Amino acid sequence: MTSASTILPAPMHRAVRPGGATLTRNVAPGVHRLEHAYVNCYLIEDAGELTLVDTAFPATWSLLLQAIQQIGRTPSDVRAVVLTHAHFDHLGAARRAGEEWGVPIWAHPNEEYIARHPYRYEHESPRILYPVKHPASIPVLTAMAKAGALSVKGLANLQFFEADDVLAVPGRPTVIFCPGHTYGHSALHLADRSTLLCGDALVTFDPYTGRSGPQIVSGAATADSAQALESLDALAETEARIVLPGHGTPWKTGIRGAVAEARQRGRS
Ligand SMILES: [Zn+2]
Ligand SMILES: [Zn+2]
Repeated sequence: MTSASTILPAPMHRAVRPGGATLTRNVAPGVHRLEHAYVNCYLIEDAGELTLVDTAFPATWSLLLQAIQQIGRTPSDVRAVVLTHAHFDHLGAARRAGEEWGVPIWAHPNEEYIARHPYRYEHESPRILYPVKHPASIPVLTAMAKAGALSVKGLANLQFFEADDVLAVPGRPTVIFCPGHTYGHSALHLADRSTLLCGDALVTFDPYTGRSGPQIVSGAATADSAQALESLDALAETEARIVLPGHGTPWKTGIRGAVAEARQRGRS
């Protein structure tokens, strides 16, 4: 359970870190966003303990340590890492977190193969064409490469969750299974904070096109767009007010509006 006293009282606070990373505190009550190279990680605070959701890139590691210090915590407060999915841009620092912090790395079983082999994943469209068609993606992909996107190490020994599980980790998120972007993609719902961490099931920025606004990720990185669009229903049913995507800025006017926009935009 989260008591009000455990949630940082500070208003939203932004601090730009070296390397182009930004820490924004309390994007939702007691949830802090670290954006690095156009990818979001989130620290969920609960009674002085932390859950890290997604880990961006290998170079994100030192920024995570700084972020934890900046919110007044230490790495020993981290109890778990939870992955929305195992794409290289969310898996990057996970193995190191598991090794150095000795914490479990949670994910859906359908993510196991990608976690072991971070560069072998299904996607509908050839990625090579996207920078040509969408030049706005070039600085994004360059920043990702600089952050170590091409040298992510795989990991085994995931801790598995299933749809609708309530995880016994700080924040006690409920697993909202929403496959399509990957076959095990899962969002995390913090019902008591009316907050949904939705990974790449719904983003407000697509790294492969450089376009902003609620949408599913383009076919450059999505396994099954039709399934991803269907899975938006599961997100909408949470009725969460605050939506925290894997890429892009928070959306604070309710998941239903975000889902409606994403549906209207469709696949790209
Ligand atoms: Zn992804
Ligand atoms: Zn991603």
